[in-house]
Amino acid sequence: MNARHQPEADITPSAVVVGGGIAGLTAAHDLRQHGFTVTILEASPHFGGCVTSHEVAGLTLDAGADSFSTRSKAVADLAAELGLWQDIVYPAQRGAWLQLPGSDPGASAQPLPSTGILGIPANPREPDVVRAIGNAAAVRAALDKVMPLGSLVKRDRVSLAEVVQERMGDQVLKRLVTPIAAGVFSSDPSVLDVDVVAPGLRAAMAKHGSLGAAVASIRADAPAGSAVGGLAGGMNRLTTALIDTLRGGGVRLLADTRVTGIRESGESSGARWAVLSDGAEFTADVLVMATDGPTAVGLLGESVLQLKEETPTPGAGVALVTLVVDLPELDVNPRGTGVLVAPGVKAQNGSPVVAKALTHATAKWQWLSETTGPGGHVLRLSYGRAEPQGEDRPEMWSDEKLYEQALADAGVLLGIRIGAEDVVGWDVVRWIGALPAAAVGHRDRVARIRASVASENGLEVVGAWLSGTGLAAVIGDTRARMRKLAHAHPPTA
Ligand SMILES: Cc1cc2nc3c(=O)[nH]c(=O)nc-3n(C[C@H](O)[C@H](O)[C@H](O)COP(=O)(O)OP(=O)(O)OC[C@H]3O[C@@H](n4cnc5c(N)ncnc54)[C@H](O)[C@@H]3O)c2cc1C
Repeated sequence: MNARHQPEADITPSAVVVGGGIAGLTAAHDLRQHGFTVTILEASPHFGGCVTSHEVAGLTLDAGADSFSTRSKAVADLAAELGLWQDIVYPAQRGAWLQLPGSDPGASAQPLPSTGILGIPANPREPDVVRAIGNAAAVRAALDKVMPLGSLVKRDRVSLAEVVQERMGDQVLKRLVTPIAAGVFSSDPSVLDVDVVAPGLRAAMAKHGSLGAAVASIRADAPAGSAVGGLAGGMNRLTTALIDTLRGGGVRLLADTRVTGIRESGESSGARWAVLSDGAEFTADVLVMATDGPTAVGLLGESVLQLKEETPTPGAGVALVTLVVDLPELDVNPRGTGVLVAPGVKAQNGSPVVAKALTHATAKWQWLSETTGPGGHVLRLSYGRAEPQGEDRPEMWSDEKLYEQALADAGVLLGIRIGAEDVVGWDVVRWIGALPAAAVGHRDRVARIRASVASENGLEVVGAWLSGTGLAAVIGDTRARMRKLAHAHPPTA
């Protein structure tokens, strides 16, 4: 390393982190702790990426992620290190609902069957599953128990849809799995790589002999308690706490600094990497790329030639409409913590419901309902389905058009009339390209990318496009990679 060219007092290795989302902030936090001098370069005016806040009707609300998976301790451990342990909370145990198509939307809504993974039931003969898919479809789905597995567990590239359809049939796919895949990944199950979105599922099928038994075994192995957690005040507090800690630790955080070029600078300049932004050059011994996939590959393509062939598909787009309403009728939480919407749902007057999901945030989080008080409610509707919609993609509609649609959709999905007069405040937030595509073959591509980056000295690449969507995956993976990076480049080298 070039540190040997520098005076004794200045041997602390330097790190530049490109991208100040949760991956970049976490990387900076860990590198700082490992003794690096760290600079973060973030293109937008704000840090946190998808973990950030907005103000609606005087409330500070999550504008993106609002919870984290508790399947690993990654997020809780980081929150604890940042002094947020006491603020970890769990959603109300009222469960979410499923809105299926039908002539009467009220009669076609039901609590989401609770024993599944991504909507795949452990036992398709359970009454709540039969209610969602019908008796004949449940009989078909139950064949999963007795049919031989065939090549499904051995084939190379398999989509979530193939697994579900082959084992449990069309109705489980359409009525249970598709709405959940749309809500979580903004994707259709036919494009999702089953090994990315449900890691371990095929291995469990091979072990237990059927899809239902695999789901049951994974559920049984899951940690006890709620599958997701949050923070009182919102997940955006994780970003705020990270920023405070980084600033306190002397990390340089530069917002409005879009990186436009990266090159290996060579020994003589004293640092391995040169990072360019608007005429400024930042040099570093260690470089961490923590942007979205297409940006990372675009910027690194000149230095790591193998990456050029691996440009990932841009991620899906989502628009979130937040409505803060004064509606005491919602105090009874008519649809639990929210509603996942199957394709093809219509209002009674025949107009389509465009939202793919509605979160009743004040029913989900006690801290929020205590903040709003009785009658005050926060509803968040998401737009942007996976299936092709031509040019008319709702996530690209004007704010006003989305707002009008959200009012209509919320009324249908919650089974009450909601008018503009009930609205205290509203906002539209767009996340275009923010949910990376976990398309079939993605796992192999990630392995190839990681192999080509591993050979580059002092370079690491992190973020949801590699680790998989979700804070648990991103934070866990980033921390593991920063340990390896610090080990390979110890501060006293
Ligand atoms: C609407 C929404 C809701 C979600 N809800 C949840 C949830 O409830 N629970 C959960 O676990 N996960 C959720 N997720 C997913 C989770 O938020 C993401 O997987 C995670 O935050 C991604 O973090 P990241 O750092 O990899 O990427 P990002 O947050 O996208 O950060 C990347 C950063 O890189 C910056 N950047 C890009 N190009 C450049 C450049 N050239 N120079 C400098 N900076 C650049 C960007 O501005 C951005 O700040 C949600 C995602 C969305 C979009």
